[in-house]
Amino acid sequence: MKTLPSVLVVEDEAAIAELIVINLKHNGFRPIWAMDGIAAQREIETAVPDLILLDWMLPGETGLVLARRWRAQPRTKDIPLIMLTARGDEVDRVSGLDAGADDYIVKPFSTKELLARIRAVFRRRTPELPEQTLSIGELYLDPETYRVSYQNQTLKLGPTEFKLLHYLMRHAERVHSRGRLLDQVWGDHVYIEERTVDVHIKRLRESLAQAGAMIETVRGVGYRITAMPAAMALSAERAA
Ligand code: CA
Repeated sequence: MKTLPSVLVVEDEAAIAELIVINLKHNGFRPIWAMDGIAAQREIETAVPDLILLDWMLPGETGLVLARRWRAQPRTKDIPLIMLTARGDEVDRVSGLDAGADDYIVKPFSTKELLARIRAVFRRRTPELPEQTLSIGELYLDPETYRVSYQNQTLKLGPTEFKLLHYLMRHAERVHSRGRLLDQVWGDHVYIEERTVDVHIKRLRESLAQAGAMIETVRGVGYRITAMPAAMALSAERAA
């Protein structure tokens, strides 16, 4: 018999937690309730859940702090994570995603919405594992270890920049619109502005240093990663 996917529900408000737990149970999931970060950590140490639903405002450490920590640890970094937030402003949503959340849900939410988001995250995450190292020229990305290197030098990337690079490298040489990148990298966040993509592309280029030239802006269309960027071709010609 196939075991049901487990969902760790980190939520301090008992009424909300109970509602989520009941609905998950009725829809083929195995929910585990933790009231705060300490209880959640204990559950994770016992068994790694298949997905984490993480409330932003918790007693003790906030969901944002927990998300960052879990993303940084090998045991927890691959667990799909959905943040629950009562706050509405964009800055928070972006920082939640920057902390490594796959998605977020704004309270109050309907059960239908919650289940749809959970299923979408599972769909997005599942076919990606396990994955092979990707390379373009001397740029390497290992999705398993979250390592990126160029000319044998390890590069440090933020979680969003990593996801962005991962997506671009999986679909190299193709031009992607900002809207497509938002869909594919951030999820179905129609309310995030397209300039968010520009901000992260800028950061990605900075993190890639020399290899940043491989991320090309295609005017009026979007971005692509290419093995032979125009900028590099020029400098190669000059060097010859
Ligand atoms: Ca709360």
